[in-house]
Amino acid sequence: LKWWDHVAPAPKDPITSVTEAFLADTSPTKINLGVGAYRDDEGKPVVLQCVREAEARIAGCDFLESVSSAVSSKLVEESVKLVYGKNSDIIKEGRFAGVQALSGTGACRLFAEFQRRFYPGSQIFMTDPTWSNHHNIWRDAFVPERTFQYYHPDSKGLNFPALMDDVKNAPDGSFFLLHPCAHNPTGVDPTEEQWREISYLFKVKNHFPFFDMAYQGFASGDLDRDAQSIRIFVEDGNLIGCAQSFAKNMGLYGHRVGCLKYVHILDYILSVLCNDAKQAAAIKSQLQQIARAMYSSPPVHGILLVSGILSDPNMKALWVEEVKVMANRIQSLRTTLRKSLEQLSSSLNWEHITNQVGMFCFSGLTPEQVDRLQRGFHIYMTLDGRMSMAGVTTGNVSYLANAIHEVTK
Ligand code: PMP
Repeated sequence: LKWWDHVAPAPKDPITSVTEAFLADTSPTKINLGVGAYRDDEGKPVVLQCVREAEARIAGCDFLESVSSAVSSKLVEESVKLVYGKNSDIIKEGRFAGVQALSGTGACRLFAEFQRRFYPGSQIFMTDPTWSNHHNIWRDAFVPERTFQYYHPDSKGLNFPALMDDVKNAPDGSFFLLHPCAHNPTGVDPTEEQWREISYLFKVKNHFPFFDMAYQGFASGDLDRDAQSIRIFVEDGNLIGCAQSFAKNMGLYGHRVGCLKYVHILDYILSVLCNDAKQAAAIKSQLQQIARAMYSSPPVHGILLVSGILSDPNMKALWVEEVKVMANRIQSLRTTLRKSLEQLSSSLNWEHITNQVGMFCFSGLTPEQVDRLQRGFHIYMTLDGRMSMAGVTTGNVSYLANAIHEVTK
């Protein structure tokens, strides 16, 4: 029997293939705008000072066994405070079920599985476009996907009326996957007022919002401000789900020497809001059971780092500052890139570079232009024209602007 003859290679992941092409390029001027991982102004990965201190504190401790449920609950509680606000009633009343998940993919996958198990036949509405792996995650959990309108190619901003129409026209009680801030891949977020309208409509339609919070702090530099969308939904009395990451805002990518591929060492908390503490306990036990069959338990190293930082006021304050520094660097490079293009007398409008927020700029470059940037200028990004602004530095921004100008003339 030829067991595996029918197995054809899987299609390449769009982001991984960009990284591979970048690594194979020997040009000294090459720029990687593919992967969404933070870099400093020299293009180097960053280990935050707060993480270094937390590392030093846990060095030598017994973290080879799984952490106690007390540590785990503490981490979940500290994390949940970051999203819902430290004085939120939800925390006082224990109205949330929270578990540590295996990275962003793991948190979303856990929720998708939970959704299918307790709402079989339900579907998930995703923004058009969304992070490419969202499609894979819900597909593998056998939850059918629908899209709702989000991005407006002409304005390179939000198509708010179309979004509201789609939310209105979805069957009552639908599941929606939302990005609370720094939308990936577009960098386009609703305004506070628009979030209020969306939240109100969700309440009226009895929809369930699931937030994938991968970039808290990266949109505005302020962790509270970036959680505002979620807090609006909660204030309105929506029950929500939230996948919350520390991968980007604590820089917890485990870099391998000589290889730009990154692996997260912990980093996601999945929380589901509930009506009361009893319901929260039931949901938590179900989430734990699903995780047990998938990967048993997540790694413990990261959990110790994060809880170390969040539970120490000085370390937390240091972290808050470091998040600001990262967000500000990206913001200032957005301004410089836009200015540089304008100074080159580009006839195109580049306002969206500074209107969009977070790690990504959805440039509006066509696949042909992206291809020319790669072949002619050694500049790498995904074919949809998404640029990771973290790859832009004061050293390469004018080279980048020139190249973009050349291919868009
Ligand atoms: N969700 C979104 C929207 C993301 O952009 C990312 C990182 N690219 C993730 C989740 C994180 O996924 P993971 O931690 O599994 O790499």
